[in-house]
Amino acid sequence: MHHFDPSTEIQDYLVFGEYGDVNPSITDSSTYTFLNPKTMEELFEHEKEGCFLYSRHWNPTNKYLADALARLEDTEAAIVTASGMGAISAVVFQLCSSGDEIISSRTIYGGTYALFKNFLPKFGIKVHFVNITDLNSVKSLVNEKTKIIYTEAISNPLLEIADIPKLSEISKANNINLVVDNTFSPIFITPKHLGADIIIHSLTKFINGTSDCVAGCVCSTKEFISQLTDINSGASMLLGPVLDSYRAASILKNLHSLHIRMKKHSENAQYIAERLSELGIKVFYPGLKTHKGHQLLNEIMNEGFGYGGMIAIDAETTEKANELMTLMQQEKVGYLAVSLGYFKTLFSSPGHSTSSEIPEEERKEMGLSDGLIRFSMGLDNNIEKTFERIKKCLIAVGLIK
Ligand code: PLP
Repeated sequence: MHHFDPSTEIQDYLVFGEYGDVNPSITDSSTYTFLNPKTMEELFEHEKEGCFLYSRHWNPTNKYLADALARLEDTEAAIVTASGMGAISAVVFQLCSSGDEIISSRTIYGGTYALFKNFLPKFGIKVHFVNITDLNSVKSLVNEKTKIIYTEAISNPLLEIADIPKLSEISKANNINLVVDNTFSPIFITPKHLGADIIIHSLTKFINGTSDCVAGCVCSTKEFISQLTDINSGASMLLGPVLDSYRAASILKNLHSLHIRMKKHSENAQYIAERLSELGIKVFYPGLKTHKGHQLLNEIMNEGFGYGGMIAIDAETTEKANELMTLMQQEKVGYLAVSLGYFKTLFSSPGHSTSSEIPEEERKEMGLSDGLIRFSMGLDNNIEKTFERIKKCLIAVGLIK
């Protein structure tokens, strides 16, 4: 366990608006005036503290949110983007040229997988998909063209835990960037402390927490963030995934309650995972002692925020999973919807989007069944009632008696 508390870092982040407003003023401009054309010229060359040129490059509201996110991840700097995918693609295009290679976990978010599998080859970038928990296979793929080792801290949908410290040993020994998507585990995993070079979030999920917008971020060194935002060669500047400042302002407000929400998401997920296990349901939750990654997560996590809000259960077949999800929505357990990190419970069937890399036999061994249902547990205060509702649905579809 680590004793770092990202919420204290955010607690200490106080910024004021133009008139001492307790929330910083929202930038309502795409462009900025200069008293002196020389200053404008200088800004084309390098950043100047407190000076803004054009809102796709940087704007004050996005800077406030980015600074708060750098505190969350304890990195020197951060940028915000219009989506998690915007963050991921900017990082990949910044680091890779035609002919370069990426070693990626095979159990990643379906959109990232599709980008890597279907889109990057158009630019001559090759991605090797691996079982990221098998460090020898990661090592065996490293060569002089490898630019990135890419993983999610907690994988989708089985919630496997990446051994970030060990992956970082491999990446550091070979001068490769270790890029970690920390979307499932904000606040309770701090990848930088474990050796990650670049941390990505889809802010759309737990960090914003209200499922009302799409956004992302990259947290890293000042040097890398400057590269991303470089006016002449930066992927975030030139590909243009800029977040709207109104959204940045609302996400920043929500970020201040992230620690409370994560504790409650985790508490509810732990409760449901334990109760469902007792009923004999096959449950994947890293907070359960029976989970493969439980011990590793204990070693790398920050204390005090639990094991996260995500659970997967095995409903055996696609038909049963569909029946169960339809019933759970009718019984007001939550919504049958993709995404995660909302204050209401969301559930969906992860399907086969990322598992096509995995041979049938291994899929079985891992527990990657067609009947898998992924839950993002909400903030219900009466979680006992939620459990009783889920139990009623499990009985109705014949998964338990
Ligand atoms: N990373 C993970 C782990 C995700 O679950 C998602 C979205 O579902 C993304 C990245 C992409 O983020 P966005 O939808 O904000 O582009």
